[in-house]
Amino acid sequence: MIKTLKHSLCALTVAVCCSPAGAATDADALHESLVVMDTHLDTPALLVQPGFDIMHAHTYDDDFSQVDVPRMDSGGLDGGFWVIYSPQGPVTDAGFKSSRDTALVRAMAIHKMVAANPDTFALATQPEDAKTIAGQGKKIVYISMENAYPLGEDLSLLESFYKMGLRMVGPVHFKNNQFGDSSTDPDGQQWGGLSPLGKELVKKANELGIILDGSHAHDDVLRDMIELSKTPVILSHSGTKAIYDHPRNVDDSLLKKLVESGGVIHVNAYSSYLKELPSDPERGKAYSALFKQMGNMAEMSAHEIAALKAKRKQIDMEHPAVRATFEDYMEHFLHILEVAGPQHTGVGADWDGGGGVETMMDVAALPKITERLLAEGYTEQDLADIWGNNALRLLKQAQDFAASLKK
Ligand SMILES: [Zn+2]
Repeated sequence: MIKTLKHSLCALTVAVCCSPAGAATDADALHESLVVMDTHLDTPALLVQPGFDIMHAHTYDDDFSQVDVPRMDSGGLDGGFWVIYSPQGPVTDAGFKSSRDTALVRAMAIHKMVAANPDTFALATQPEDAKTIAGQGKKIVYISMENAYPLGEDLSLLESFYKMGLRMVGPVHFKNNQFGDSSTDPDGQQWGGLSPLGKELVKKANELGIILDGSHAHDDVLRDMIELSKTPVILSHSGTKAIYDHPRNVDDSLLKKLVESGGVIHVNAYSSYLKELPSDPERGKAYSALFKQMGNMAEMSAHEIAALKAKRKQIDMEHPAVRATFEDYMEHFLHILEVAGPQHTGVGADWDGGGGVETMMDVAALPKITERLLAEGYTEQDLADIWGNNALRLLKQAQDFAASLKK
């Protein structure tokens, strides 16, 4: 976060009064001075809910939200990629249409957030926009799409979303779809990698200058994407199999392949992908009953949503969540840094999408990562790369390639 009055003063205070106190204060000052981005902000899922106001301070304990403007300020988060997420539905014309409409509503919610708060947010579409926007003390809003399912079989829709600001796209989510295999489909692989349409998606994204995102994709899809894409691929929120062997994580050899091709991995803080957690069948049962009642929260009243949140709190009281710790997160982070290097690593903690570990349950806690990485010996330049430069480099490569086709 740079240049907001509050934070300039804060950084100044730290520099003038407190710097001899030690590394933590140095870390805070450095964190404040960087452009800090997360490549997977699922917050648009909350923007469409009646009654949610991103300008107001929330707490995770109160309403389970993890990102709002006051907490972005206190955590020094300048913004990042705000996600148009679509759950995987039936791969049919009717499924495509319904999902397309939901994705459009979510894209509009992101635009409305920016339009309603022009002094706070600004839409970013070019790599250089991030620094400009953060320099104005505003929040950076790049747009990404998690699960390309809503595009149906009509890739001209990708261009429509591009015109709405889309700059990153991941082909799949929890299940296989028309573009390829998911890493977590209970029925296993359907295509053996990208489908023929998935290969077209890669080509189209390259032509438009959109970064391809391999998070959630099966390893074979990621391999295909690395091979076919003319510009480097991102994993916007993933972990490492070397620390926890989960299908959502990548092993070192695939990570090295990603890095050799210029790609970047942003480390996920989704507890159950970080380590084996004890299962609680009663909590699982209670949550699946609750999810059934949740339906489409965008169509509920604020009162109905409040009632569901109260039920969720009740479940959490009766069957408390068991989460990974901040050190579990850092174990993934440090291993990935060792294998991929600081020029190929970043943060994509899955805020408002299931991310969060003990003592880092919202974006206000982000300076802890900077502090920990400095203590490990990573430099100021490394931190600048990790928090923003690496993802922006990929966007520049994507945009430059698209521009080169037009010459
Ligand atoms: Zn995800």
